[in-house]
Amino acid sequence: MTDTMPRKLPFPVVDNCLQVGGVPLTRLAQRVGRTPFYAYDRGLLTARAKTLRATLPRQVRLHYSVKANPMPALVQHMAGLVDGCDVSSAGELKVVLDTGMAPEHISFSGPGKREDELARAVAAGVLINIESMRELQCVARSGDRLGIRPRVAVRVNPDFELKSSGMRMGGGAKQFGIDAELAPQVLRQIAALGLDFVGLHVFSGSQCLKAEAIIEAQARTLELAVRLAQHAPQDMRLLNMGGGFGVPYFSGENELDIRSIGDHLAQVVSRLEAQLPQAQLAIELGRYLVSEAGIYVTRIIDRKVSRGHAFLVADGGMHHHLAASGNLGQVIRKNYPVLIGNRVAAHNSENTSVVGPLCTPLDLIADKIDLPPAKIGDLVVVLQSGAYGLTASPTAFLGHPVPEEVLV
Ligand SMILES: *Cc1c(COP(=O)(O)O)cnc(C)c1O
Repeated sequence: MTDTMPRKLPFPVVDNCLQVGGVPLTRLAQRVGRTPFYAYDRGLLTARAKTLRATLPRQVRLHYSVKANPMPALVQHMAGLVDGCDVSSAGELKVVLDTGMAPEHISFSGPGKREDELARAVAAGVLINIESMRELQCVARSGDRLGIRPRVAVRVNPDFELKSSGMRMGGGAKQFGIDAELAPQVLRQIAALGLDFVGLHVFSGSQCLKAEAIIEAQARTLELAVRLAQHAPQDMRLLNMGGGFGVPYFSGENELDIRSIGDHLAQVVSRLEAQLPQAQLAIELGRYLVSEAGIYVTRIIDRKVSRGHAFLVADGGMHHHLAASGNLGQVIRKNYPVLIGNRVAAHNSENTSVVGPLCTPLDLIADKIDLPPAKIGDLVVVLQSGAYGLTASPTAFLGHPVPEEVLV
């Protein structure tokens, strides 16, 4: 096993071969017909959601943030496991509506919502998380035109941030949401326009592995919501606290302690019941729900030694998996957990770099890692690839075919 592998592999291994959805990887590769491909394990998706639900208070509504992985079959599967979905474009909205999920369980967030997207969201009857005055006007116009009273929530850019998060999405000057200090004005405007005010959405950050930081942000979100509720045109029915639950990608990182978060959320729920009795609590998670269940599989098509260092050249790379290459926001490049899927238990005896076929040194899958001696034809597996994989990658770069995605 390599030092970049997680302590506990989520997939079973039989005869040295990784099993995905109960299928040996080598067989799965034959079934898909070509490499590279992404594979997502239904059983792991289900287990992950169930464990989380068992840990959080039952009153907390669990939403899936579709941009983490919008593959339609996967979204369909997730729709049966969560209470709602959050989308960030009309394209994602269509994927979720196609699952049959009721519009009242769908919310639409993100900066730069186009007028036609907002009109479609109003027509569909989904909750629109308002992020600017212009969006508010657009939504009101669409509502008038369609004879529908739009359902809106205010996405608030809080006056605090989620500490220790990989990506800050709130606090300070941000393109996301309405600054907390301007929210009362927007709430008045919602009343003036006669829109159906549902609640607040506060998303302060992403990829946080420290339970204390998430707990602190949730406590401050509750305070903020109680403060803003005084300005609300009608009872607040929803408080979406965002999420930010991280997953361990790199060696030295540990699983998030969701038990402490669950304990704290129980207190949040009871305070909410006391102070805003009509409001349901929701959290929205992307990577936490889907990352571990997904792998990216690429085949070694060449092997070469340059001045003493071995390179495994694969048929896939950063054009399919930008995050694993280290080019999706990492400041210091680290290796994702990688293994040779058809030689999992073999002894690591070679220090090597796994690279892709692109003509750039940025196209790295794993740099200087210990792997079993691998041969041409072997399958390199990048773990923790169920979120921000294919759709977060520059697939058109160099014109290689787009990889398949399978839900097993
Ligand atoms: C991206 C996003 C999420 C999901 O983030 P993860 O880190 O994948 O959990 C949730 N809410 C909003 C508003 C987002 O933009």
